[in-house]
This record gives sequence, structure tokens and C-alpha cells, in this order.
Amino acid sequence: MHDVPMGEILKKLRELNAERVLIQTPEGLKSEAQVLADFLEENGIYAIISGDVNYGACDPADTEAKRLGCDALIHLGHSYMALHLEIPTIFVPAFAKVDVVPAIEQNIDEIKKLGRRIALVTTTQHIHQLERARAFLEGNGFEVLIGKGDSRVSWPGQVLGCNFSTAKVDADGVLFIGAGYFHPTGVAMTVKKPTLAVNPYSGDAVWMDREAERLIRKRWAQIAKAIDAQRFGVITSTKKGQLRLSEAKRMVKLLREHGKYAKLIAMNHVNYFALEGFDFDAYVVVACPRVPVDDYESWRKPVLTPREVEILLGLHNEYEFDEIVGVERGTDEPLGLSLKGPVT
Ligand code: SF4
Repeated sequence: MHDVPMGEILKKLRELNAERVLIQTPEGLKSEAQVLADFLEENGIYAIISGDVNYGACDPADTEAKRLGCDALIHLGHSYMALHLEIPTIFVPAFAKVDVVPAIEQNIDEIKKLGRRIALVTTTQHIHQLERARAFLEGNGFEVLIGKGDSRVSWPGQVLGCNFSTAKVDADGVLFIGAGYFHPTGVAMTVKKPTLAVNPYSGDAVWMDREAERLIRKRWAQIAKAIDAQRFGVITSTKKGQLRLSEAKRMVKLLREHGKYAKLIAMNHVNYFALEGFDFDAYVVVACPRVPVDDYESWRKPVLTPREVEILLGLHNEYEFDEIVGVERGTDEPLGLSLKGPVT
């Protein structure tokens, strides 16, 4: 369970004079969303819960909230991403209660294999403990670098599944703190340095380099599968933080210049099931970069990233992960909920 600061949310909504709100939640916070909706209604605010699956701050439901006549959107589970929002939006990041230091202490000998100068990164869930982790590591003789990153992230040291800008510092290796392989494989594929993932829940430490190599080999296999493809569907997403229209148009142009048939496709939730029936030999996803990397097994046609298309066309021979990059980041977000969007 995560703590949702219901009192703070209510206070912000009262400041906005909000009478009706939409609550958007990731899979893991559905029960908290429901408790929050009950709480707001007890306090005189009409609350609607979005039933759509949400994977990230790249997909705020501000347009839907406006259409539903809401005065504000509450976006649970993620920190703010620099996007043009149509309605006041309260981002409520979820911070885990687990202490990260015991898992670091338990794996200190393994961490030493990274070298003395290490980059330290984590996800939103553990970002509030990053300075504690740094202090502990420095006390054990490490030089710890926490990258500032670009505008797609809210805090130094934060990584997203599509952005590892904070890991790109002059370090010997990267220490990732968090659960699962999703983020640290992306780190290892992007920075191409030794990457160790320490899980604060289980206490396990896993080297991600081999997993990254395995994934990259699979990506080369996808490129090989598309070698005879003539007809390409180039997909971008209408989700605000995944809409990469100029890059998608560049892909269409590039493919056509190389004698291929290419069509631009726009869709909200990018998935193969919805594309069944179209006449394409292969697809290029210019939206969330994790779709081709993590979901390709559910696609019956080869599915590539823009960089992989360039490799296919002989323009590059070195593999690069397809990141969505931001611009230079301004000041750090406060740790905790933040109100963004037009406030009148
Ligand atoms: S684009 Fe993909 S990886 Fe990036 S925040 Fe959105 S869902 Fe996550």
C-alpha cells in the first residue's frame, strides 16, 4: 500500500474551487484511487475514476477530464512530465515505504565491482531516499554521481522506462535501486556500462549487462526479420507524452527515400491486436520505445524502433536504445504532489 496524501489533495482542490474531478491511476493504485474518491465525495467534491489503464505521466487524462466537465485532474502514481496540460492537474507520485539502505549494505561487495566512481539512479518510488543512499555509499568510499537529467524527469537520479538521461554521467558503472528488470535493462542498453540493480524489497543484486545483451540480440533478430519488408506502418501515439509526430514523419520520408512503401498511423494505445487487417510487412513504433522492446512477442509482424530502421537501411551499424529525450531541465520538482497546468 502507498500513502496517498488525501488532505493535501483536498487542500489543493479547495484552492482551485474544484467541484468535480477525474482521478487517474496506474494498475497498482486502483484501491487507493477508490478510497480517495470516497474521501473527496465525503468532502463535497464529485469524483470520477478513470477506468483506462495508465502506464505513465506521458499519458495524462486532462483532455478527458475537461470533456467530463471536471475542474481538475488527479494523476496518481507518477511525477510531472513537461507537457501542455489543458486543465489543472495534481500529480501525486507514489513513494515506497521500504528502506533502501539495508539492501545496499548487504550488497556492498558486489557494488564495489562497479568501480569507485558510480552513477546512482532510481525510479520515482525510491527517489525520496536517494540522498540517504548517496550518504551511505560515500561513507563506504564511493564517489557518487547523481545526474541532473533532462526535462522529461522531475528529479536528479530519476529514470523512466524511456529516459535514462540521469545515468549519462562520467562514472565507471551504474547502480540502480529498485524492483524489476524494466528500468535497469533500459539503463544498461542505453549507457553501455556495467549496471547493477539492487532490489530494496528482496535484497537481491542482479547484473543487468547480460540481460541487456540478450535483449539487444533479440532486437538484431527483429531487424533481420524485417530485411525483406517493403510495406511499413509507421506508428505514433496520440498520448501527449508519446506523440513524436516529426520523428514519425521523418521515418516515413526516410523509408520512402529508400524505395519502401510507408504510411503514418496514429493510435492511442499502441498494440498489434488493433492493427490486424492492415496490409503491412513490418511496423515502426515512434511512441513509447518499450513497446517494440518489451511487447514484440505479441506482434505477428516485425516491429522496430526508428534507430533499428536506420540500421535496416544501412545508415548505422551500432545499436542504440530509442529514448524519448527532453530539453534542459529547470529547477527540481518538490518531492510530493505538484500542481501543473492552467490555473485561473
Ligand atoms: S513513454 Fe513508455 S516508458 Fe516512457 S513514461 Fe510513457 S509508458 Fe513509461
